[in-house]
Amino acid sequence: MQNVCYDIRGPVLKEAKRLEEEGYSIIRLNTGNPAYFGLKAPDEMIHDLIVNMPNAQAYVDSKGIFAARKAIFQNYQPHNLPNLDIDHIFIGNGVSELIVMVMQGLLDAGDEVLIPSPDYPLWTAAASLAGGKPVHYICDEQSEWFPDIEDITSKISAKTKAILLINPNNPTGAVYPRELVEKIVLLAEEHELIIFSDEIYDRILYDDRKHTITATLTDKVPVITFNGLSKNYRACGLRAGWMVITGKKHGIEDYLEGLEILSNMRLCSNVPAQFSIQTALGGYQSIDDLVRPGGRLYKQREACYETLCTIPGISCVKAKGAIYMFPKIDTKKFDIVSDEKFVLDFLREKKVLTVHGGGFNWPKPDHFRIVFLPDDEVIRDVITRLRDFLESYHQGEE
Ligand code: PLP
Repeated sequence: MQNVCYDIRGPVLKEAKRLEEEGYSIIRLNTGNPAYFGLKAPDEMIHDLIVNMPNAQAYVDSKGIFAARKAIFQNYQPHNLPNLDIDHIFIGNGVSELIVMVMQGLLDAGDEVLIPSPDYPLWTAAASLAGGKPVHYICDEQSEWFPDIEDITSKISAKTKAILLINPNNPTGAVYPRELVEKIVLLAEEHELIIFSDEIYDRILYDDRKHTITATLTDKVPVITFNGLSKNYRACGLRAGWMVITGKKHGIEDYLEGLEILSNMRLCSNVPAQFSIQTALGGYQSIDDLVRPGGRLYKQREACYETLCTIPGISCVKAKGAIYMFPKIDTKKFDIVSDEKFVLDFLREKKVLTVHGGGFNWPKPDHFRIVFLPDDEVIRDVITRLRDFLESYHQGEE
């Protein structure tokens, strides 16, 4: 377990819990948990889950119930993903379980996977847990946090098996333009890499941004697309996610068989939640109301960005998608040597829980992640607390 880290729920959270036990009220901005902030799943989804509860007591097909997988299939069908096949759709207990599964099935000791830095850290942890070697490629803050193609190229080796894209991105809020995704796909094709495309925020887009489904761009390499109910449908607690394997299947028959075995080994994923997948994907998409101007998520993003920009020593790239920003701290100004200590000090003094950049495999102590899920007034309050905190903060001084 030495290299297996998941600091989003690490030592700083432990301290937050201790403070809560002492009676303090902590604003928890450490996880992207929409329902916790009153951004609830559509009623219809919950209704259909309840109605189907009597049918949800038995184990089901380990890949998931047919109707849910068919709904996922039909959701992708209009986008013409090459070799889309219902047999290669797996439902999991959230995308999280599937991330562990795809790494476990793929990697032999020392095999490498290209993972963005910063990343959603479960990916790095899962690669390490499977005995593989996560190799981080840089996303460049100067160009809207886009992946640096030169850096990716320089890090491909004979041992590289796969490359991961997280688009829209956690923790940066970046949304990649089609041309950039095309360049990454081309690299994967040249080096015969499997592509993992984590698209769990694909409907959380601001300012009319368009999302590119990576899998639409190639039939020359295998692409595994990940999505689920947690974010677009605000239902993290239901634990329902899926992966869709498309593109070139020839040559990965053993991997597909391995994934089936791993899927069978956990019997099946949470059944009640599967009954809400068809309802979620079909019909009215209430997330669209939340992200358009005047919508709650849109207003919260504006509040977060505007208020962050008023703090001397903090700079930030505005999120174009998802529910996070990854601001930069002027480490010289505040004498910061440890980003974890910075978020810990902020938590202790102002009772706000955030996550340090290192928790996302960012190599320098100069970033932290903020989740803009609370109401805009709360966000303004939280960031004003940060401004007050930073007015006299110097880490060198104890
Ligand atoms: N992928 C990304 C990029 C995430 O941000 C998260 C959760 O925050 C997950 C996957 C995990 O999602 P799930 O709730 O489906 O396990």
